[in-house]
Amino acid sequence: MEFINIAIDGPAGAGKSTISKTVASEMGYAYIDTGAMFRAVALYAIRCGKNTEVGDEIAPLLPDIDIDIKAGENGNIIILNGEDVTGKIRTPEVSMGASNVGKIPEVRQKLLELQRKIAKSGNVVMDGRDIGTHVLPDAQVKIFLTASPQIRARRRLSELMEKGETVTFDEVLSDMIKRDENDSKRAIAPLMQAADAILVDTTHLTLPQSIAKVLDTVKEKAGEIL
Ligand code: C5P
Repeated sequence: MEFINIAIDGPAGAGKSTISKTVASEMGYAYIDTGAMFRAVALYAIRCGKNTEVGDEIAPLLPDIDIDIKAGENGNIIILNGEDVTGKIRTPEVSMGASNVGKIPEVRQKLLELQRKIAKSGNVVMDGRDIGTHVLPDAQVKIFLTASPQIRARRRLSELMEKGETVTFDEVLSDMIKRDENDSKRAIAPLMQAADAILVDTTHLTLPQSIAKVLDTVKEKAGEIL
């Protein structure tokens, strides 16, 4: 049986996870946050005292890393070697670490296998950077979500402040620009809109408007297939 794969890619703070989660729940599909997998690898590496920018320090750790992803009430629950790390992978340090480990070929290969295995096991909405281009090139629906860097930084700042993180707008914006550059310029599977992805720019849309727009697009596309 062939399952439906919906790929939602885009830069940090474009609203991918909130939108993907809602679309998945409306469609009755599983939601898979691939960024959380890179974050879990980064957290493990940071805890081991390794430099996330150095492939030779990170690749040898991979056999010791087991990542499991489960459906939770508020998105995915990320289990790293049996420990629920969901609340520990959203710090600015882990965000930058995830972007760094995302450049390492061995990390990408390990996570690619896990992501494809999950997508083969049921209908999924998978969000990330390279889902439509590399992980699931045959996904039936592909969306590329974007928004201006200022708007994305503003949204990310309020998320972080809600969690009690003490960061400024300028710090969030400069981290975001650095991460975008890292993600778009890396050699393997860079952040890029797939040729057959539909572009949704949420700069001037509220969250409910963005959700409605993506959901309409998904239903229209999925309707052609189902
Ligand atoms: O989506 P999120 O911000 O949680 O992702 C964290 C980092 O993981 C990104 O900045 C990116 O470098 C990396 N990532 C990736 N490929 C994916 C998902 C995330 O390289 N499919």
